Formats: sequence, C-alpha cells, structure tokens
Amino acid sequence: MNMKKSSRILSFIAAAAIPCLCAAAVGYAFPDAKKALLIFLGAAMILMSLYELFLFISERRSEYDRDLRSLEAIADKLNIMAVLWSTSFDYFYVNDVFIRATGYTAEDLKDPANIRRVLPPDAFSDNLQGIVNTGNEEFVIQCKTGGGVCTTWNTSIMAGHKTPSGHVSVMLSMGRNLNEKQRMQQELISYSEKLRESENKYALSLELSEIGLLLREAGQSGYYASDRLCRIFDISSDNGHIGSDALISSVHPNDRVIFETFEKTDIPADESVRSVDFRANPHDGKYHWYTYRYKSISDSPAYSMGGAVIDITADKEKDMMIEKMAYVDEVTGISNRNRFMLLGSELLACTQNDMKLDYWVIVLDIDSFHLINDTCGYSGGDMLLKKIGEVISKNLEKGGFSARIGGDNFAILLKKDGDERTPVLLIRRLQLLISRINLTGEDSQNITCSAGYCLMSDGSSGEFAQVLDRAEFALDLAGGERGAITRYDNHLHNAVIENNEFEKALIKAVENNELVLYYQPKINLENGGVIGMEALIRWIKPDGTIIPPSRFIPVAEKSMLITKISHFVLHEACRQNKEWQDKGLPPVTVSVNLTAVDFYRTNVTESIREALRVTGLPPCYLDVELTESLALKDIEHAVDQMREIKNLGVKLSMDDFGTGYSSLSYIQILPITVLKLDRSFIMYLEEDEISREIVSAVIRIAKSKKIETIAEGIETSGQAEILKKSGCDHAQGYFFGKPMPANEFEEFLRKRSQTVTKAK
Ligand code: C2E
Ligand code: MG
Ligand code: MG
Repeated sequence: MNMKKSSRILSFIAAAAIPCLCAAAVGYAFPDAKKALLIFLGAAMILMSLYELFLFISERRSEYDRDLRSLEAIADKLNIMAVLWSTSFDYFYVNDVFIRATGYTAEDLKDPANIRRVLPPDAFSDNLQGIVNTGNEEFVIQCKTGGGVCTTWNTSIMAGHKTPSGHVSVMLSMGRNLNEKQRMQQELISYSEKLRESENKYALSLELSEIGLLLREAGQSGYYASDRLCRIFDISSDNGHIGSDALISSVHPNDRVIFETFEKTDIPADESVRSVDFRANPHDGKYHWYTYRYKSISDSPAYSMGGAVIDITADKEKDMMIEKMAYVDEVTGISNRNRFMLLGSELLACTQNDMKLDYWVIVLDIDSFHLINDTCGYSGGDMLLKKIGEVISKNLEKGGFSARIGGDNFAILLKKDGDERTPVLLIRRLQLLISRINLTGEDSQNITCSAGYCLMSDGSSGEFAQVLDRAEFALDLAGGERGAITRYDNHLHNAVIENNEFEKALIKAVENNELVLYYQPKINLENGGVIGMEALIRWIKPDGTIIPPSRFIPVAEKSMLITKISHFVLHEACRQNKEWQDKGLPPVTVSVNLTAVDFYRTNVTESIREALRVTGLPPCYLDVELTESLALKDIEHAVDQMREIKNLGVKLSMDDFGTGYSSLSYIQILPITVLKLDRSFIMYLEEDEISREIVSAVIRIAKSKKIETIAEGIETSGQAEILKKSGCDHAQGYFFGKPMPANEFEEFLRKRSQTVTKAK
C-alpha cells in the first residue's frame, strides 16, 4: 500500500472519528440534547464518510484512467494488431494496425456482435485465465468490410479495477496477421513447386539432350557429375561427386592429358567457352567421342569451372568420312592433292623456320597414259594407277609422303638428307618397279614414267603451290621425253614466265591493233625501179616503242597466235597494195613472210586465196616468202603446199637463202620463183672473194633454173654494183630504202616511179 493511499485512509478514519468523539462527549455532558445531537453527529459522520469515500473512489478512478491512457499509448506503438479491452466489455481500445487490418474501430467494438467477431472465443468464457498468455491458436477475424484475417493472439492482463459490480481487468490482446505469413508460405510452396518443376524439366532436358554436366570443384581434385555424365563415363558418383582418378581412367589413354591438365591449370576467369574433344568409355568395342564445352565459373564458391559433355561420335565419324573423302584419292587409296598441298604447306612453314630442314618435291607422270586407257580401258587405267600408288607408298615406308595429285600424276615429299642424288635414285627405283607392273598377264607393257623435281628451298616463295609448280615445270621441261628426270632450273623458269607475260601482252596487242606493217622496197638492179616491197611487221606500243618482229614472231609461233598475225599480214598487205594500185601508183609485188606454223598447221593456200578474193589483188602481185628451214621439216608436204600456192598465180620466194642448212639441191626440188640471198652473204661481198664467188655461183644456178634472184641487206653501192655485175636481178636493203610506214612508202613509191619514168 502506498503512502497516498494510507494517508487517504487515515484522513477518512480521522474524519469519521472526530465527530464521533465530539458526539460522545456532548451526549455525556448534556443527556437531553443527547438524542438530537446523536442524530446530528450520526448524519455528519455519515456525510463525512461518504465524502471521504467519494474522494477515495474518484482518486482510484483517475488512476485507472491514467493507466488506460498509458496502455493505449503502448498499443499505438506496437506494429502488430492490439486491442485493449476490459473484462466487463465496456472498454475497448484498438490501435491503427488493427483498424487497418479489420476495419473495426473501438466504437464498433462496443457492439457485442462485433466483439465476438474480434476477440478470441476464450474471452467469453468464465475462466479468463484460459486466454491469458496463451497464443498461437489461429483465429479468423471477420473483417468489417467482409473477408477474414487469420490471426493468432496473445492476451495479457494489464490492469485491474474494482467496480461496484466486481473486479474488472484490462486486457491487452496482441494479434499477428497470419494472412501475410500464409501468403508467403503459399508463395514459397508454389515457388518450390515451380523450382521442382523446372528442376524436373532441366533434368529431363539434360537427359533428352544427352548432355552430361561436369563441374570442377573449387580447390579440390574432384568433380560434380550429373547422372547422365556418370553414365557416359560408366562411373558411379557419391551424391554427384566423382574423383578425378575415376574420371581419367575412363578416358582414352591418348586423351587423358586433357583432364590431367585441368587438374593443374586454372581456366582464365573470362566469358569465353572452350572446348576439347576426347574419347572415353569404350563400349561396343570402341571408344566414343565426346566434346567438353566448358568455361570458368566465377560466381560460385563451390565450382571453379564447368560445362557440358556431349557425345559426338556420330559427328566425328561423319567428319572422318568427309576427311577421307576430302583427303584420300578414291582410285589409289593413297592421299590426294588436297592432303599433299596441306602437308606440303606445313612442311614448307617448318623449312622456313629451320634453315637446315628441306624437302625434295617430286612429280611423276606416266608416259602415254592415254594408251593404257585406250588399250586396257578405264578400269585397266585405274588398276595401273592403283598399282603405281602401292609401289610408291611401299617405297616410302622409311620416310616420305606420296599422293596422287591428279590424272596420271603422282607427287612425293622426301626429306633432304644431304645427298643430292637421293631424289634421282628414288625416281629410278620407282621407274624400274613401275616398268615391271603387268596389267594384262601377257607381255609387260613397259610402263615408263618421267619426273620433275625440285627442292622446297629452290627459289624463295611463301606458297607451297609454287613449289609444286616448279616440280611440275621441271617435268614439262622434258617435253614428253619418256623416262626423263629433270631438275627444276630457276633461270629457265624465269625465261618461261617472262615469255608467258610477253605472250599475254602480245595477245592484247593483236586485239588492240598495235601491230602495223612497214614496207621495204625491192629494187630492179638493172634500172633502179621499184619492183615490189616486203611487208615487215612491227609492234608499236601505245607509248611509241617499236618492238621488232624477231622479238615477238618466235613467241607467237609457239602459241597459235601466229595464225592470227599471219592472217592480218596477208590481208593488210594485199589490201594496201591494191589501194596503191587503185590510186594509180605503178603496180608492184608485195611480199609477205609466212612461218612453218602457217605452212604446216593451217590451210595456207586457202588463206591466201581468201585474202586475194577479199582484197581484190591479182595473185601475180603477191609474193610469199618462206624460209628454207621450213621446207626442210617435211619436204614432201612442203613441195605439195608450195605447188598449191604457186598454182594460185602467187610468187614464191625462198627467204634467207644461205643460212642454216642451205643446199643448192633444194632449188631443184622446191617450186620457188625467187631466191633471196641472205644478208650474211652480202655483208662481206666487197672484201671477201669467196663470198663473191659463192654469190655469183648461186645466181648462175638459179638463172639456169629460171629462178629470179634478189639479194637482201644491201647497205652500200659497192655491194649493189657487185651484185649487178654478178647478174643478180633485184636488191633490197637500207641502201635503197629502209622499212617504212605505209604513208612514207607511198611517197617513196610515187617519187621513185617518177624518177624512173624521167630516166627512161
Ligand atoms: P626477213 O624476212 O629476212 O626480212 C628482212 C629483214 O632484214 C628485215 O628485218 C629488214 O628490216 C632487215 N633488213 C633489210 N635490209 C637491211 C639492211 O640493209 N641491213 C640490215 N641490217 N637489215 C636489213 P625485220 O623487219 O626486223 O624482220 C626480221 C625478220 O622478221 C624477217 O626477216 C622475217 O623473217 C620476220 N618478219 C618480219 N615481218 C614478218 C611478218 O609479217 N610475218 C612473219 N612471219 N615474219 C616476219
Ligand atoms: Mg623476208
Ligand atoms: Mg630475209
């Protein structure tokens, strides 16, 4: 009991005792007034007592109220639902959390129906103790707005208060909103269901995609392996964990190094995905191929790297098949050109890094292989190629690489051993073995082959294709000679390359009309008149450079370009001569030079006839110059052709007589009309007696055969005089006039004809 309460009781006792003592003293002193006084005192005493009682009660009341306010303040601070209520159900206080959750206010709770909806059912039992400090029992509050809030409550007695009707306790019920918890629980359940579902899907897709997962455990030598992976490697895991030894032992011995390397190396922590192919878990008698695509794992403390293992056996087999198709020659079963080029390129790169290293590159060609195809059929040809492939690869067992690089060509790569004879010795051995191949079972076909070879370091080039070209060039150099063995020659090759370039330029020159005809006069030694002109071709480049025929005619002769050139010369010379005749200039003969190619490979008579027809030039004004070497090639054919030409009415000159195989007997055989003495005879006429004698003898013989004579290369009047005296009919040379362009020659012709006319 506190001091305030005890003083209040003492004052009450005192207040009641004092009038009592006063009334007792007065009643003792004045017995008459005693009764009235006693009544007065009694009333006073009762009043006093009532007053004191009132004071006491009102004090208790305000104390109770203060308690309630402070409880309410506490309830407001709580962030869970709180209801303060009196066990007499005449006091309610609810905090904001409660109002927000249920919609009820303290006022609403004064309605008994609402109280029942809100307060725990035990609150209405006699034994309040039943709900005090118990909780966790779920209780659904019917909200004012409809719906329910699932709650658990804890209730405590907070204050007590005596009332006339008995003791009233103030209770604080604190409720937890279970709706939120339930929602979270529900979410958790659905999340885990989803997780389970996606895990299932993930496991299923892993299973269906036949992918095995392999994660390397951080800081340890083991791995996490998925079920599928365990099956791939045929190993069992300890709850997903497998030791690296178990893993490695399932891998093909040659590929184990990959996983051993993983043990020792840290994969760089970047985003890049790496992959390795390896063989593992032999079943059905063979190893299967797998690829492991992996990357480093930086965001997991448990694993340092990981990835997927996929069975690629089928793809590998396909690859190997494609590789076989790409690199193996179908006919012989040895490597094909692709593989040869690939290996050659690799070896070339090695030789470039190591100057001491070098390889011979040999190309073999079966001589007249088409004859085998013709006589034994294509199957016989294929059989021969197969046998040759076998012979070559057998002989290279100790080192070297062979391939069929196309048609009837085989190629060999042989390491240089310091002995320069090595390639030739090998080629000879192969030639011998190949010559013994018998396809028909009858007499040996004596199959020969020729070879070209070079060293990789012959000439400097970065491309293996060029190395092979060199060996092939060497092969071509033999020019089809059976059994030839030719080594590559750099100088020769350069000359050929140059010629090729030149030939290309010449083709363009023909197309671009860069070839023009110059004309050199032919003079009658008797009267100095112009009897004709020789058409001499020039290649005038756009920059004005003049290329002489001696430079480009031999090149043109090697290709069939000469046919085009001769066609042009024939037509242009005839056309020009006809034009001059039409212009009224004295009619003279134009000479054109034809080559052996024109003579033997084309219908030259037809070409000449055509040129005369198209231009309208009478045949007697055309002279065809042929060299005697041309006639030598096939004398019978030459004679026939010459007769045909001569029968056209065209003149035939034997050019350059006296050079090469000159023989006076040809004069008798060949149907020529003119003999052209070569410049080499004329050059020393003035100082050399023998030259003079030869020349006059030749002229005499020609005359006896009714063959006209013309000397070329006359540069001096002395030479002209000697020739004239020797009975030579005509002359051509710088002394009379150099070869000149058509317009200049026209002028020359015009002037000379006037001079000759005047002289007459
Ligand atoms: P070629 O038929 O014997 O022609 C004579 C060559 O001697 C010409 O050389 C001419 O310029 C040169 N010549 C003439 N007089 C003299 C002289 O007094 N002194 C010297 N030093 N040389 C003289 P070009 O024009 O260079 O022709 C060379 C050869 O090229 C010709 O010899 C001929 O075989 C050939 N040729 C020229 N034009 C043609 C052509 O249109 N077709 C063919 N197939 N060959 C041609
Ligand atoms: Mg000539
Ligand atoms: Mg000549």
